[in-house]
Amino acid sequence: MVWVGRDHLVPAPDFSHLRSPFRVIVLGDAAVGKSSLLRCFAEGPAGGVATPCPTVGVEFYSRTVPLSPTGRAKLQLWDTAGQERFRSITRSFYRSAAGVLLVFDLTNRASFERVPEWHREVGGDPHPPAFVLVGHKCDLVAERAVSAEEAGHLATTLGMVAFVETSARSNLNVELAFQTLPLPAPLRA
Ligand code: GDP
Repeated sequence: MVWVGRDHLVPAPDFSHLRSPFRVIVLGDAAVGKSSLLRCFAEGPAGGVATPCPTVGVEFYSRTVPLSPTGRAKLQLWDTAGQERFRSITRSFYRSAAGVLLVFDLTNRASFERVPEWHREVGGDPHPPAFVLVGHKCDLVAERAVSAEEAGHLATTLGMVAFVETSARSNLNVELAFQTLPLPAPLRA
């Protein structure tokens, strides 16, 4: 299930401080499936390059994606590994992010309850990025611990543009989660 709501009510983020390639960050607790989601997207049908960069404590992926019928934009995806010791390094990445996928595990309630904390971590910036809330591992239907209504409500409360349920295992909605981000109009073909 995908909940895409109130996007017309959320003010368009200010992208004037950003330059292409736009940076999209994947955040969330450890083991929620961030790396799997990224790999699934980066190696998806439209092609891409996955380049791990372990020395800086993040995995780095780069992919050019279509953002409109006429243009494409290069997205840089950073998986910050969700680890405390990388916080000071990763905070500087947040500053120029155009969009954030904030991921929790639909079968792990604690990861959902940490979402507001992750949101605060990034949202304090003078130019907060656009957020999409991602409920991952939706293939594990029997183990589900968070309802779509609850997650949708939290996304609305935090001013996010959407809540999307994904599965890397079943390749469900992975492209959609990224494409739901209201990124700047592409500058380069
Ligand atoms: P990260 O620490 O957030 O980057 O999480 P990982 O991508 O390493 O995934 C953590 C665990 O969740 C691994 O055992 C994955 O195989 C599993 N996982 C990742 N995505 C999915 C998914 O869509 N469905 C299911 N059932 N398991 C997943």
